[in-house]
Amino acid sequence: MIYLLKSDGTQLKPLLDTAKNKDDEKIYREGLVYQQIKTDFHGKCYLCEDDEVTSIQIEHFEPHKNDLTKKYDWNNLFYACGHCNNIKGANFWPLLNCTDQTDQVWESIEIHFTPFPKVTVEISVSETCLKQQEAENTRKLLEKALIGKDATAMKKDEAAIIRKKMLRAYNQLTIAINKKDDEAIRQAISDKSAFAGMLRWTLKTEFPEQFAKFCCAGA
Ligand SMILES: [Zn+2]
Repeated sequence: MIYLLKSDGTQLKPLLDTAKNKDDEKIYREGLVYQQIKTDFHGKCYLCEDDEVTSIQIEHFEPHKNDLTKKYDWNNLFYACGHCNNIKGANFWPLLNCTDQTDQVWESIEIHFTPFPKVTVEISVSETCLKQQEAENTRKLLEKALIGKDATAMKKDEAAIIRKKMLRAYNQLTIAINKKDDEAIRQAISDKSAFAGMLRWTLKTEFPEQFAKFCCAGA
């Protein structure tokens, strides 16, 4: 997970207010509202950071529980994949907010990816994290989404598909490092890239010189 700058949505709020009066969910599934959410989240699920999802969902960061104000609140609309949104439901709350810089999501949730001898993903909460409860819930949610921990067989299979994509991104990054291809490294860890959070942690822990060079936290 990484911090994402969400636009303030000033021009979209009147549209959302109108839709709220009719409880018209279409407002965030097409048109200007949908397009702006997609742009702000770089077409990636904010939880797993996959950018090739076939089931896109605009989800409510704070469960709305039929509270129409929360349901049509611009700041509460996030871009997610069906896999993660389905796991999240209203089960994990409160969570770290990736659109709130003060929550320091990347710094708080460490994602360690190991490709060999078996692909493994370890997720932990950093000691410096200021919001321990939110971070712990976020960690548990990501464990279920990326590792399939405490999940159904179907969800475990979905998690395994995401890990395959993570492996591909990991390999691309290590190839770029071996080739000393600075542009490719910069691209791999940019906000727009799939699994940028995991890749930044890979740099930090395995390639500290590169981490210092590309100054990941602000990438
Ligand atoms: Zn996802």
